[in-house]
Amino acid sequence: MTATPLTCDGCGREGRRYRRGLCGACALTEDLQAVLDDGHGSIRPELLPLFEGMRQMDNPRAGVSWLRRPHVAEMLRILASPDTAITHETVDAMMPWRSAAYLRDLLMHHGVLPAVDRHLLLFKRWLAEWLAGIDDVEHRRLLERFATWHLLRKLRTIANRQPLGMKRNQDARRVLVQAAAFLTWLDDHNTRLDRCTQADLDAWHATAFLARRSAQAFLRWCMATGHMPKLAIPTRSTLNPAPISQRQRLALIRKALSDQSTPDRDRVIALLVLLYAQPISRILRLTLDDLMHDGDQVLLRLGDPPSPVPEPFAGLLLDYTQTRPNTTTATNRDSRWLFPGRRGGQPLDPTTIQSRLSKLGILAGPGRSAAIRQLVLQTPAPVVARMLGYDADTATRLATAAGSPWSRYAPGDHEQ
Ligand SMILES: [Zn+2]
Repeated sequence: MTATPLTCDGCGREGRRYRRGLCGACALTEDLQAVLDDGHGSIRPELLPLFEGMRQMDNPRAGVSWLRRPHVAEMLRILASPDTAITHETVDAMMPWRSAAYLRDLLMHHGVLPAVDRHLLLFKRWLAEWLAGIDDVEHRRLLERFATWHLLRKLRTIANRQPLGMKRNQDARRVLVQAAAFLTWLDDHNTRLDRCTQADLDAWHATAFLARRSAQAFLRWCMATGHMPKLAIPTRSTLNPAPISQRQRLALIRKALSDQSTPDRDRVIALLVLLYAQPISRILRLTLDDLMHDGDQVLLRLGDPPSPVPEPFAGLLLDYTQTRPNTTTATNRDSRWLFPGRRGGQPLDPTTIQSRLSKLGILAGPGRSAAIRQLVLQTPAPVVARMLGYDADTATRLATAAGSPWSRYAPGDHEQ
C-alpha cells in the first residue's frame, strides 16, 4: 500500500499531479480559463465549445504546452475579447500562418467556426504569400482588391455549394498571375491601366492568347470598377485568326477569278496570296522579269524553282500585264514593277492593297498567310486549277513531269 493517496486538489480524482496539487486536466482548465477570460472572469459563449472540447483532450500536457507558446496565447486572447468577431477573416489576419491554420482547424473541429473548403484555404494562403512578393505597391494594392472583392467572393459562393477542388484553386491563381503580367506589360509599354487603349488590349492578346486570356476576369473587373476604360475584350488572338478551310480558300479563289467588278490588279494580287501563300510585301516587289514562259507554260519567280501558273490564272495574269495601272505617268512609263505605285519608281503601297484585299474578304495578316500556306502545301495551284474544273491535262502533265511531291509548287517562306 502506498502511504500518500494521489488525488487532485481540483477534481478529487486519483492520478498524477501535474502542478500545485492539480492533475493535468485541471491544470489545462486553469490555463484555458486564464487565456480565454473575456475580461470579466468568464468565457464568451461562442468559445465554450472550444473550452469544453480542449479540457477533455486525452493528453492535457500537450494542451498546456501549446497554450504556453506566446503567439498562441496572444491569438486566443484576441478571440476571447468581446470586441473581436469570431470569423474566418479574423483568423486569416493572424500570424504566423501555421499556428493560425492549426487554431482554425481546432475552431472548426469544435464547431466554433463553420467548416471551410480546403482549397479555399490553400488559395488564401498562396494569395498572401504571392501578394507579398509583388514589388510594385500600386500593382499589389489593385490585385489584392481584385482578389478580395472578386475572386475570393466568387470562390466562397461556390464553396458554399460544393467542394472547390484543385482546378478552381489553380484557375484562380492563373487569373492573378496573368493580371499581374498584364500590369507589368503596360508598364513595359509606357502606359497605365487607366490610359489603356483598345490597341494596347489587342496587342496584349496578340501573343500567347490562351495563357493571357486568363487575365480577362481581371480586365472585366477593372472596367466595371472604373480602373480602366471600357474596351472590347478580344475573344481570340488578333494575330492568329482561325485558319481558313480549303473550301473557303477555293470560294475566295473563285470569287477573285470571276468578280468583274473588282479591278484586275486587286484580283491578281488576291489570287497570288491565295494560290501561293505569298506575303503582300513580297508580291508587290515582283517585276515583269519574274514572269517567264517555258513553251506554253507561264512561270512566276516567287522562289526557286519558279512556280508554274496554270490556267485560268495565267490568262488573267498576262491580261493584267498589258493593262497595268499607274504606267501612264512620265516617271512610271518604263516601270518594271508588276504592281507599280502612284509614286514614280515605287511599287504599290502595301497598306493600300491590304485594305482593298480585306474588302474582298481576304485578310492579309501574317497569321492568315501562314494559314493559307498550310493549304497551299496540301493543294498547290495546279491542283486548285483542276479542282476548279480548268486545265486538267496540264495539271496531270505537270505532276508526271515533275515526279516530285506537289509541295515543290508551294514556294518557300519568304517572310523569314
Ligand atoms: Zn483534477
